Amino acid sequence: MKLMSFRTATNRSWGVFQDDNVVDVGAVLGSTHPDLRSVVAADAYIEVREAARAAPRVPVADIEWLPPIENPAKILCIGLNYEDHRRETGRQESRHPAIFTRVADSQIGHRADLLRPRVSQDLDYEGELAIVIGRGGRYIDRDSAMDHVAGYSCYDDATLRDWQRHTHQFTPGKNFPGTGSFGPFLVTRDEIPDYRTLHLTTRVNGHLVQSAGLDQLIFPIPELIAYCSSFTPLSPGDVIATGTPGGVGFKRNPQLFLKPGDLVEVEITGVGKLINGVAQEE
Ligand code: ZN
Repeated sequence: MKLMSFRTATNRSWGVFQDDNVVDVGAVLGSTHPDLRSVVAADAYIEVREAARAAPRVPVADIEWLPPIENPAKILCIGLNYEDHRRETGRQESRHPAIFTRVADSQIGHRADLLRPRVSQDLDYEGELAIVIGRGGRYIDRDSAMDHVAGYSCYDDATLRDWQRHTHQFTPGKNFPGTGSFGPFLVTRDEIPDYRTLHLTTRVNGHLVQSAGLDQLIFPIPELIAYCSSFTPLSPGDVIATGTPGGVGFKRNPQLFLKPGDLVEVEITGVGKLINGVAQEE
């Protein structure tokens, strides 16, 4: 199933994406499951499938897409998880994944504009595969880690490079409002038997800027889940963005930063295509 969160002129809901419509399952199950975080926490997919048969349909042209999980308790982002990106940044190899956090209110959905803030012009893209945690846990072992994944989505971990590099801590450059694009939907795990067969591409104004197979992750998803759940409990709805491949804008020659009017597309086979324009913050 492709699960999505959305807003119309009159309400906010969630549902199942089908043939350019959203089946508004939130209209039927909303009192039990107010959002997708609640759906993944309850593992309520059978209930959702049944309710979808009788739920109202809305054309996606009439809705505003929201991040599939609007209110994750945690967003953990993995840095330097592809060898070509590690090399282009000039950073050392590491025995452990580099991890930073992103705040939920930095996120936007499919088709919303990435925002270039007034204090920086160094807005850069980072196409990534995101996973959403279904079953939470602490000290999850690698062998059972994939059982904790609810599904997959595209992520653009857009970054203000100068603010990322003011000091050795990434947090400011990774948390401006309107920079964490997430969507279009959450594709449930049953649709992706092996994430290592997926391929990710990022395009800016139609030009290919990143291309990589998910089999290239330095720290594979089971290892990320095992490592992260060792230092923090993972909860249903938590998001892990698994890192970006080589080809980011600030390491290109000449550098390629996003400017108002640009269009960024992060596409992952079987997971979807996340499209965002770029606007100047007012
Ligand atoms: Zn990233």
